[in-house]
Amino acid sequence: MTRAVYRFRNCTMSRDETAAPTYEATCVAGEDTDCGAVSGEHLDPTPVEKWIAEHTRDTTHTRYRRTFSDYTDVQPDQWL
Ligand SMILES: [Zn+2]
Repeated sequence: MTRAVYRFRNCTMSRDETAAPTYEATCVAGEDTDCGAVSGEHLDPTPVEKWIAEHTRDTTHTRYRRTFSDYTDVQPDQWL
């Protein structure tokens, strides 16, 4: 049996404001397999919500996985 040792140390994380965050939704309705339809990435949550409403209207699917992505810059308190 192997044992991994991880060393953690303090660091500061801040959002990279030069890279825009994105919003996306995937339809996960379905009994055996998920529908899988995706909204595509958007820079604003509004078009994703609109896509969800339209997809629900067209398919009666009512379960979605929503994702939000952004970038972070990490500054360790001190470099090794
Ligand atoms: Zn669907």
